[in-house]
Amino acid sequence: MNQITLLTDFIPSSSLPVLPKLEPSPHTYLDNRVTKTHRGNKRTRSQTARARLRTKEHLERLANELHEVELADKLRRCHSRLSVLTCGLHIAQIIPNFTCEFRLCPDCSRRRSRKLQNKYLPMMRAFLRHHHVTPVHLVLTQTHKKETRKQSAKRINDAFRKLQRRSFWKEFFKGGTWSLEFTKDKNGLHHTHLHIIGFRRKFFDIELLRSEWLAVTGDSHVLNLKPILDIAAGLREVVKYVSKPLDVRRFGADDLREFLKLKNMRMFGTFGEFREFCKGFDRSDNDGDEVSELEKANRDLTEGCACPKCNAPLFDLRLSSDELLRFYEGIESAPPGKVGTS
Ligand SMILES: [Zn+2]
Ligand SMILES: [Zn+2]
Repeated sequence: MNQITLLTDFIPSSSLPVLPKLEPSPHTYLDNRVTKTHRGNKRTRSQTARARLRTKEHLERLANELHEVELADKLRRCHSRLSVLTCGLHIAQIIPNFTCEFRLCPDCSRRRSRKLQNKYLPMMRAFLRHHHVTPVHLVLTQTHKKETRKQSAKRINDAFRKLQRRSFWKEFFKGGTWSLEFTKDKNGLHHTHLHIIGFRRKFFDIELLRSEWLAVTGDSHVLNLKPILDIAAGLREVVKYVSKPLDVRRFGADDLREFLKLKNMRMFGTFGEFREFCKGFDRSDNDGDEVSELEKANRDLTEGCACPKCNAPLFDLRLSSDELLRFYEGIESAPPGKVGTS
């Protein structure tokens, strides 16, 4: 079993240069009909850890209902025992005893999301250095129909493939990444979107893109496009949908059954010239890559090393997921600057 390292505390966002708060660009096209992408909810670590735990318990219950015994067992074991490297106030490393790798598992999704970011961020930065392009976040949606999740995903993927073959697309986009997000509307119909990080060659009228999307889908023109000011944040936002493609807490047993049929469906991919660029990417071309450097530094930490945040010595704690939750709560309630372990 591979030991997988989660770097929960030293998340790149804090280490990246902070961009000044920018006013919305006049070239930002917001379409209110598209689901909102920014929730702006800043939850504490204990709150998010508790939500993950509850989600897993919910999934485990559903798996049991469907007599998916093996899945239920994996979910129960996943991240149930943790080796935590800490100074008492900061967490440098969390190593889980076991990872289930189930796509809807919130713990494993976070890991997958971090992996995707580490893999693609250096390539995106290098691509931006080598090409005169602007990254944009494009959301493509389609009409809701009575269909299965699989049919809904196929319909939007087919339309996107057609779009990429059109001369408009080739003229204005130099490739990028796509990811799928699934939601359901009030009537229980699937609402599938594509989140695209597109490398735009030059500016174009959004109405043109709308009519192109309508031409390939036959009935959908709803989309949203906004420039990405910080590529790391843009990528983080997009992989969020890969790592959390669904609102699992609202799942019933039928939803899980349907999801299990999607096992091999791809949720994330690259396209166009960016795809080719990734294939030939040389990892030494990554002088702007703070993420992997930082992660590498933390991976080498062991008991007795100085905490990268406060220099206090690190020690190893063996915790259950519930104990980790209480540990987070302890850290959060400790007065600033005071080491809060007992
Ligand atoms: Zn898992
Ligand atoms: Zn510390």
